[in-house]
Amino acid sequence: MSIYHSGIGMTSQRTRVRMIDRLRRQKIVDEVVLTAMNSVPRHIFVEEVLASRAYDDVALPINFGQTISSPFIVARMSELLRAGSNLGKILEIGTGCGYQTAILAQLAHEVYSIERIGPLLTRTRTRLRKLRLNNVRLKHADGLLGLPEVAPFDGIILTGATTHVPSTLLAQLAVGGRMVIPKGSQEQYLCVFERNAQGYVETILDEVRFVPILSGVIKD
Ligand code: SAH
Repeated sequence: MSIYHSGIGMTSQRTRVRMIDRLRRQKIVDEVVLTAMNSVPRHIFVEEVLASRAYDDVALPINFGQTISSPFIVARMSELLRAGSNLGKILEIGTGCGYQTAILAQLAHEVYSIERIGPLLTRTRTRLRKLRLNNVRLKHADGLLGLPEVAPFDGIILTGATTHVPSTLLAQLAVGGRMVIPKGSQEQYLCVFERNAQGYVETILDEVRFVPILSGVIKD
């Protein structure tokens, strides 16, 4: 039986249900986010040797020095981005293995995701194609530039930390839109920027630990 369809052991639906129960205990309340995380098989986003740990509440390595965010962080950021409403067009910076992207695809009408490491994106493309997510567009580029040709976005999410909030990205947010971003270097906090008609409102939330957002691209 292929790992994609495995119904046994640590990759089963039962394991996913246990993850959802844990997320509820961790105070994730958005049922749309919980449903999305119950439906996406997280174990196919990590190397086969790590598949049995895929549903644990930890970040795991995904090659090229990057990590897949823990289930709690994915849930928390998705909940903050949604803020209780369905999303139209969203932009993700830092596709990585594509797990957060696959979750976002259930929460938004259209998802654009940018990754700077070419070979990492190539693998993720293949993986996401198997899940037949037809509302996701992936781009190999420096995400700090955003996607001006597609902007404005109802939501922007960065899956790596920055010390400076990129004004280019803030400018690509629609009025009424939200940007969720881990901010800082040694000490990092999850921040939400909401754009209103007057400007931006920043809310600083949980302390977190992310790999850094870097500029420039790495080719295949
Ligand atoms: N959500 C991803 C997180 C991966 S870690 C997952 O769960 O797999 C953060 C990712 O951001 C890495 O893949 C890294 O290469 C990417 N990244 C860092 N700086 C970037 C930039 N400027 N543009 C696009 N992607 C970037």
